[in-house]
Amino acid sequence: PARTRFAPSPTGMLHLGSLRTALFSYLLARATKGQFLLRLEDTDRSRTIQDAEQRLYDDLGWAGLHWDEGPGVGGPYGPYRQSERTRLYQDHVHQLRRSGHAYRCFCSPERLNSLLRYQHQHKLPMGYDRTCASLTIEESYTRAASGESHVIRLKSPEDTPVVHDLIFGKVQDKWQDYRNKKAGDSAWDDPILLKSDGMPTYHLANVIDDHLMRITHVIRGSEWLSTTSRHIALYDAFGWEPPLFAHVGLLVDAAGQKLSKRNSGVETDIKSYRENGYLPETLVNFVSLLGWSHKEGSDFMDLNKMVKIFAPKFTKGNTTVDLGKLGFLQKKHAAVRAEKGGQGLEEMVDLVVHQVQSSFPLDSYEKILRERMTLRQYVTAILRGGAKNYETPTDFVQRISYFFGPRDIHEKVTDLDPEGQDCVLAATQLEEIPAERWLTGVLNDKIRLIIQLLLDTNTKDPDAIPSFEQEDERKEWKKKFNMLLRKLVTGGSPGPGISETMQLLGRDTVLSRISEWAD
Ligand code: GLU
Repeated sequence: PARTRFAPSPTGMLHLGSLRTALFSYLLARATKGQFLLRLEDTDRSRTIQDAEQRLYDDLGWAGLHWDEGPGVGGPYGPYRQSERTRLYQDHVHQLRRSGHAYRCFCSPERLNSLLRYQHQHKLPMGYDRTCASLTIEESYTRAASGESHVIRLKSPEDTPVVHDLIFGKVQDKWQDYRNKKAGDSAWDDPILLKSDGMPTYHLANVIDDHLMRITHVIRGSEWLSTTSRHIALYDAFGWEPPLFAHVGLLVDAAGQKLSKRNSGVETDIKSYRENGYLPETLVNFVSLLGWSHKEGSDFMDLNKMVKIFAPKFTKGNTTVDLGKLGFLQKKHAAVRAEKGGQGLEEMVDLVVHQVQSSFPLDSYEKILRERMTLRQYVTAILRGGAKNYETPTDFVQRISYFFGPRDIHEKVTDLDPEGQDCVLAATQLEEIPAERWLTGVLNDKIRLIIQLLLDTNTKDPDAIPSFEQEDERKEWKKKFNMLLRKLVTGGSPGPGISETMQLLGRDTVLSRISEWAD
């Protein structure tokens, strides 16, 4: 069983990339019957954004990625908020200092800046020159005891540890490279572990927590790959076994740039997808495909399915985000919700009802409803029949605006009801049409034909279709008839089956729409 964690810093919103690493961690834990932890890396107060923490919980909960241990649920290795673990980091770092793996550094920011400037000017390797590594124990102690400001640095090993990444394989970072190139140089990468205010850095807290929380697999973005050797150095210094690492490639836009709204116009915040009415299962399905490969015939799947088939097989390298698939997945997931009914459907109904109320004047849809049913019932029935066209509430009510107000007449008839029979059946149910109403005015041939049909087949028998052209062309004819009917009634927009559509619209609306074509 794997113990995995998602370790966000509350410095922004959950975005596509972070949802993806959270999902992969979640899946690995579930697939191996292990645990998925949430840990808040909130030690950098200056970068913490108000509300970010709560929004993270909301977004993760919305996506269905429930954590087994973490803020809100607790667990045996808490607290799970790093800001509540400061003491623990301090104790550990002093342990490292006493064993000779870390040292106090009293160098002022001014000194460090001029050091870096000097190194830069003289094309020397950049880094801390280890001045304070050679202080005697007494001096180090006395200066600290007298209250002199200092940080604690790791005394890095001579050789950069090699990272064995599950995705990227053997990785040796730049640290090693430049030392090899400039052998004998005095610059070292001795990362700061504890800042002068006693707060840990990301490296220290991350390593201590992953160890103490018994994390077995660290899945995170490849932007952390180059710092992983420092982490391994820290594990070594503590004498701990490091977890396994799997770094996943960055998300990039079509131009290969790091994904950002500014570069490509692609929204990255989960919040905006959520607010636009994308379903959590759609978004989770969408991000699952960003760099994860599976052997299923179809990309369409829900969390349960993913857990069943999950193996941590990720793409090495960056993944291009193409939003094209989002709409396709949404329609499929929406159709599943509509078919299942219950809570999932109710949520969609809420969104659509809200959208109808803000997009159409009350009297335009009341005129169609005429107290036959409530708006909610109406929308529910529409969704049951037509959710396969649902991308977002805004887009949906625009497509099917003919349910809530006058239809738009489209030139092209775009959708065919596969069950042409339904439509003919529905047509036969439009009883008692006064012939005069139809036969006056200038009718084009096709409408005349439909009306003739409606008049002739005033029976409940679905087979009672007057033959059109030749007997064996009936099926084709039904299709055409269906298209026509849809065009007359909805303007040609796709939606639920035409028979259902006519029933929902009610006879009055249907008749008045058909008769509009008659004059
Ligand atoms: N707090 C880091 C972040 O915000 C965690 C990186 C990691 O998973 O180790 O991405």
